Amino acid sequence: MKDRYSRQLSIPEFGPEAQRKLARSCVAVVGIGGLGSPVCQYLAAAGVGKLILIDDQKAEPSNLNRQVIHFEEDALLPRYKVESARMKLESLNSDVDVEALPMRLEEETPFILENADLAVDCMDNPKGRYLLNRICLKRKIPFVHGAVEGFSGHVFSIVPGGPCLRCAFPSLPNHWNGVPVLGAAAGVIGSLQAAEAIKLLTGIGERPNGRALFLDLISGQADEVLFARNPACTECGSLVP
Ligand SMILES: [Zn+2]
Repeated sequence: MKDRYSRQLSIPEFGPEAQRKLARSCVAVVGIGGLGSPVCQYLAAAGVGKLILIDDQKAEPSNLNRQVIHFEEDALLPRYKVESARMKLESLNSDVDVEALPMRLEEETPFILENADLAVDCMDNPKGRYLLNRICLKRKIPFVHGAVEGFSGHVFSIVPGGPCLRCAFPSLPNHWNGVPVLGAAAGVIGSLQAAEAIKLLTGIGERPNGRALFLDLISGQADEVLFARNPACTECGSLVP
């Protein structure tokens, strides 16, 4: 579709080469919920060539306050979240190749990330997040971690050679009964993750050096935290820096 990308091509830092890089890229979005919804919408809208959607759950009514890619009919059927998202994304941008995998990222399934140039962590459980961290470290691909709770959240881009998720967060909370989340907060954090992914894929901006952004939407405060590599890290400590 002519003119589809005209308003991003005219950004001085962006341009045709960045657009071509996006078109050649494959991104795995792990978790198609509150964070995954804006992440895959913005990546598809921006023209990322291939999206691999990974989530084993079906949409349900309690998702609809924040998981904006799923509609009432998806929750009523119910439809797999990856299937619901694939339908919306294909009608948003038919240039994007969307692969919908209704499965969980498990120790036995790292192959589902085989073709990904980058992954986006949109999960809500520590086990899956640390597994993604291990797979990306092993495959030497970057990934963008994001988390949200209530009115606040954070974003942290992890690149090969830099501090990993475990260096920065030796433990992460496990919410057995679901994390309380304002939909708009998930939208803000997910949008930041999409922007980070686009920067990493195109090489725009400074390479992340362990900097994470923490946002609180009640106070309006943003805090930058600089994480360093932990030589004793159980995940990346043994890897040559
Ligand atoms: Zn580490």
